[in-house]
Formats: sequence, C-alpha cells, structure tokens
Amino acid sequence: MSETISICPICDHQQFRLFLKGKDYFLTQEPFSIVACTACGFRFTNPRPNPVSAETYYQSEAYLSHDSSKRGIIPILYGMARRFNVHSKYNIVKTYAKGNSLLDIGCGTGEFLHLCRQKGLKCTGVEPSAKARNFAQNRYSLDVKADFLTDISPSSRYHCITMWHVLEHIHGLDETMRKLTEVLEPDGVLIVALPNSNAHDATYYGKFWAAFDLPRHIYHFTRETFIKFASKYSLTCITILPQKLDAFYISLLSEKYRTGSSNFVRAVYRGLRSNCEGRNPLTGHSSEIYILEIKNS
Ligand SMILES: [Zn+2]
Repeated sequence: MSETISICPICDHQQFRLFLKGKDYFLTQEPFSIVACTACGFRFTNPRPNPVSAETYYQSEAYLSHDSSKRGIIPILYGMARRFNVHSKYNIVKTYAKGNSLLDIGCGTGEFLHLCRQKGLKCTGVEPSAKARNFAQNRYSLDVKADFLTDISPSSRYHCITMWHVLEHIHGLDETMRKLTEVLEPDGVLIVALPNSNAHDATYYGKFWAAFDLPRHIYHFTRETFIKFASKYSLTCITILPQKLDAFYISLLSEKYRTGSSNFVRAVYRGLRSNCEGRNPLTGHSSEIYILEIKNS
C-alpha cells in the first residue's frame, strides 16, 4: 500500500512538480516518482510505500550491511570502504562532540559503536532491523534499541547523536526531529550524513543515480533544502564534510543500473569528477555530513 504526501514536509506548501520518474533498480523494478515542492524545492518520493509496506523493500540479504559473503568488486570495495568509514566517523565524533555520550540511530550491525566504545564513549544504538540488531547485541554486547520514538526515554540526554544515511529513510520525520532536539544536550552536536541530489553524479546519472534508491529513500535533500529543513527545528549547520568514497561507490552502482555492468573505469572517472565538482558550494559532494548544533536563541 502506498501513501501520498499532500503537504511539503519543509514549508507546508501544497503544490509539487514532477522531478523525476525512476524505479527500484535494486530489488523490485517497480516504478516510483520524485516530486519537488514548487515553493522550497524539496524533493521527495511521492507517492511512497506506507510504513508497513516499506518493510518489503528491505527484504533482501544484499541490503544487510554485514553480508560479506557476496563476491564481486562492489562487495569487496564496500567492505574496504566500511572499515575506512568506521574510523573516519569516529574521528568526526571526537572532533565535534563536547561530551562522551553517543546515540547512533540506524546503527546496523554495530561496528561504528563498537569502535566508539573501545575509545571510551558511552554508546547507545537504535536499529529497527531485528537481524542487524541481534548481531550488534550478540557480537559486540552493545545496548541497541529497536525504535527511537518508543524505546529511547524522553528524559535521556546525549552529547552527540549520529545518523549515517538514515534520515532519508524515516517516515515519521517531524516526530523524529522533535525528539532529536529534545534528547540532545543543549551544547550537543547532531551529525547527519545524507546523499546530495544536486551532486554532479546525481545530475549525470539522473534516474539511474543509485543514491535515489527508490523507494527506500523517501527524501532527496540538497544542501539548500537540508539547511532549511534543519532550521525548522532550530538547528544550525556549523560545517559540511564530504564523504568522497561514496562518489565512487554510488557511480559503480549507477553504472550497473544504467548499463547492466559495473564499468569500473567509467565509474572511477565519474567519482573523481564528482569529487572535483563537489568543491563548488552550489553543487556539493555525492554524500555529505552535516554537523549541526542547537541555535542559541
Ligand atoms: Zn516546500
């Protein structure tokens, strides 16, 4: 079952234009559309699967990040990138957090939290997938809840909250953002990693761009729309960091969706080009990390 959004989640405007017609290249091959708000430009999947039926689009072993048994260049590169990413994520937390309590929403199989705890942080995770959550609990003995809205006490406080490529999947966006600002310490930081639908590789691949990931991604932020969205919740962006490896990974997958094969050389060229063009602040990188603080009023 699908649901149709009639009010822009950022500005409440009620008129949208078609931005792109694509499909679920990853799993079901079903068609989906992305619309853009005619007032603020926010792009979102519309109509989209409702929260219950959305689960069926995650029913693939390949979507689970701890599945390292698959062969081929993409899973190998993914594994290498993941190890690199875990350390670079910790370095970002260490640089910006002003205390030692960390909440990671969408912690998956827990590798990032496991490293953070080894470095001395007090860690809590949230992971809706039972399989990934059980893995994180059993393998690393991490404290992982199933649901942010119901399982995290409103009186909890965290110095740092991280969401690595999670926000673009969340149906209850407004409730989630309200609760995030409630459980964030007044001097806390919120770290949000997102694909950027204005990036060079997004424009180049169009409907084949793998980070549209329809219908699992229901919002398709740009720098402009994300900063506008964050300010609605009194959050201000202090810096934006690139995730340069993502340009290559996303280009490899996009080549595969467009042509049926990974076209390694072409994907590497496209990734390099995207990272060069990403230096233009109006374009930005394929994937970016926003460091946010609560505005002092
Ligand atoms: Zn709008």
